[in-house]
Amino acid sequence: MAECESCNNQEVTINKQVIEGLQETIRNLYLADDIPWVIGYSGGKDSTAALQLVWLSLESLSAKQLKKTVHIINTDTMVESPVVSKWAANSLEKMKAAAEKQGLPFEVHRLIPKIDNTYWVNLLGRGYPFPRKRFRWCTDRLKIRPVNDFIKECIAKHGEIILVLGTRKAESANRAKTMAYYEKLRVRELLSPNPTLANELVFSPLEDWNNNDVWVFLMQYKNPWGYDNNDLLTMYKGATADGECPMMVEKGLPSCGKSRFGCWVCTMVEQDKSMEAMIANDSEKEWMTPLLEFRNEIGDDEKDRERRDFRRMGGYLQGCNDRLNHGPYKKEVREQWLRKLLEMQVEIRQNGPEEFENLELVTIPELAEIRRIWVNEKHEFDDSLPRIYQEVIGEPFPDNSLYKTNAFGISEWELLQKVCSPDDNDGETKLFEMMYTLIDIESKSDIMNNRKGILNSIEKTIMQNFYTDETDAHHYYFDRTRRKRDLGGKYDERAFNTTHDENEEFSEDEE
Ligand code: SF4
Repeated sequence: MAECESCNNQEVTINKQVIEGLQETIRNLYLADDIPWVIGYSGGKDSTAALQLVWLSLESLSAKQLKKTVHIINTDTMVESPVVSKWAANSLEKMKAAAEKQGLPFEVHRLIPKIDNTYWVNLLGRGYPFPRKRFRWCTDRLKIRPVNDFIKECIAKHGEIILVLGTRKAESANRAKTMAYYEKLRVRELLSPNPTLANELVFSPLEDWNNNDVWVFLMQYKNPWGYDNNDLLTMYKGATADGECPMMVEKGLPSCGKSRFGCWVCTMVEQDKSMEAMIANDSEKEWMTPLLEFRNEIGDDEKDRERRDFRRMGGYLQGCNDRLNHGPYKKEVREQWLRKLLEMQVEIRQNGPEEFENLELVTIPELAEIRRIWVNEKHEFDDSLPRIYQEVIGEPFPDNSLYKTNAFGISEWELLQKVCSPDDNDGETKLFEMMYTLIDIESKSDIMNNRKGILNSIEKTIMQNFYTDETDAHHYYFDRTRRKRDLGGKYDERAFNTTHDENEEFSEDEE
């Protein structure tokens, strides 16, 4: 077997008989009923081994026996490490062609998050703070929901499904505990219930394998869809950590951030050691350095507070530990990061490896959604996204789906900004925001039908912007809350809780 650093301390527990026995079990399970199978394929070693095992097992069945479909699902978070994403996409292509050629019932699906819930739409569009321990908003939106939606659709169609996963007890003590727990709840031999979805049974053919077993199997059995498992090993060796982001099907699993098969933007770990290692071990991967730097820039905790509005996403004040809990990223930060992202895309397309000449770090539908949020929800009627796009890409923004009144644009925006300058208005830093929001509300309510609720919107805008600046807002909030407390009124106790975390609060508001 080729060298595998992570395998050094473990024995090999599988042999030809074990593999053949497992294949027999898989065939029996497949033939036992009409329930369709769904296999999670992340592109990593465990899911590759599980799929390979199923593939090899089904190969020996007759066309008549191969009557039920096996869906292969792969989640693309749309911020996958480009190298791994390419790897998985190519692999899926090969699977599709090989399954057709071999007459096997595999159907390949690449699952992506809903466009209004992608990483960039949330971070750049809505201004969500970068994912962190207390507010890990990404895994559910980017990985779990797309899988669950697919599975729910399958269940709605077929009544039940069997999910085949490459999960192993030896992955971690936690994983072993969870698997052992669900093993006890098994309704049929080898099939565990899924904790979150009814009518879904989980089959883990590699449950008792260790790391070494997986590599031995991958090296000794030829990949049946025509990929080279040696390349997979090379990719693993290119990074130091040996974790793998598994197919996420339930909440509460540990972060997949440590993995090289995670997202390139992942801020769940302080340093993306696997990506650093990939770049350090392979000069051909140097083009990824700006991605790593950008990820570090987004996840810079020290600069984080000043990049965010001092009010929460809903525009109200909330504080703890004698400071205001900051909310979404400010306009200038969102715009600056969008520009940087597009610049990196241009740079990689022009100077990166040929296979990435069409790389999309952010897609046009995502950009259209970000633009919609900025213009319609945040009232930023200067509509800066198409301008940034044109300046960086050198072409007009190709999506015209946003309905806009032509009443106000960049020139009115700039004029208003000048008129509302804090220098000329007693240091009022929120005046400009209040005015552009009010103007936008009024201009979008130009016909009678759109005027419903307009008075409430106007009042809310004034309430959210009447502070001179953050210091003024801070005094207002804490004086008021203290007064309420001292007079025995109802007040938010979190304001004086010294252990409270502002991002915990964000997650409660925004989730
Ligand atoms: S890899 Fe990181 S950013 Fe991606 S979903 Fe997992 S925790 Fe979130």
